[in-house]
Amino acid sequence: MTIKIEGLQKSYRKFQALKNINLHMETGLFGLLGPNGAGKSTLMKILSTILPFQEGIVTIYDFDLVKEGDKVRRLLGYLPQHFNVPPQFTGREFLHYVASMKGVTDQQERNEQVEKLLEEVNLVQHANKKIKGYSGGMKRRLGIAQALIGNPKLIILDEPTAGLDPSERIRFRNLIEKLSKDHSIILSTHIISDIESSCEKVAVINHGEVLFEGSTEDLADMAKKVVWELAAPFSEYDKVEKEYVIISSRKEKDRVVFRIISKEKPSGEVTPVQPSIEDGYMAIINGVMS
Ligand code: ADP
Ligand code: MG
Repeated sequence: MTIKIEGLQKSYRKFQALKNINLHMETGLFGLLGPNGAGKSTLMKILSTILPFQEGIVTIYDFDLVKEGDKVRRLLGYLPQHFNVPPQFTGREFLHYVASMKGVTDQQERNEQVEKLLEEVNLVQHANKKIKGYSGGMKRRLGIAQALIGNPKLIILDEPTAGLDPSERIRFRNLIEKLSKDHSIILSTHIISDIESSCEKVAVINHGEVLFEGSTEDLADMAKKVVWELAAPFSEYDKVEKEYVIISSRKEKDRVVFRIISKEKPSGEVTPVQPSIEDGYMAIINGVMS
């Protein structure tokens, strides 16, 4: 088992950020979904051994996170949500610096690792440029490269796609897909398309609680029988918005077709719809399940 979390509780002073978290993760790609403030970063900081917690048992590859933190640290790479790099460094210098910090002291070995990672994240042609000139996407890719130094078995990525443009996001998804073949990866996001298709397992958390754990198909199924398309005139927009959780809407001639979630079949011109992963997520977050 890659990660085993049992009865985990974390408070910041009086505020309970994680309430009795139980999660299990096997190998492969694990997606942690939840809105802002859900507790994703708190959980990832704990897994990275940089944040203490009050209650519970967490093991990573059977090592106890608290008692054997140094052993755990050697097995993992971490990309924090707010990843700051010294702007005067070049990308290559920065990776050498991180490698030294991680104990890769042999010059040749360090060279090989750094060059391989630059290639892997597609930064070779920018490696000698100062980081202050990097785009958001380039910085993220450098962040991923530094998390991969030392070939960690487990990679923890906290909102790795935040601030990326659509093409960077696609490139990133492909990189993750490739890496997940020989690493275990846990990544947090609030963007459903980041996890669609590629994640073996997903957990949804909100207000410090695990609301769902399962496959992406199971997640979509959480909205079974509660997703509808409802056609209504424009004049009823506010009324529909008040009454239902709207997933999306599109204009159709002189009316609007809403995709909504509702436990009961709405009145009016309604058709039931097959739920998507996004519907499942929205149903869970809004507590509207069949
Ligand atoms: P997420 O990453 O899902 O957006 P976080 O783990 O960052 O959520 O935060 C979870 C909750 O804990 C939020 O309500 C946040 O305000 C609170 N929180 C996070 N860090 C601290 C801190 N250092 N001190 C006090 N409260 C915090
Ligand atoms: Mg966060």
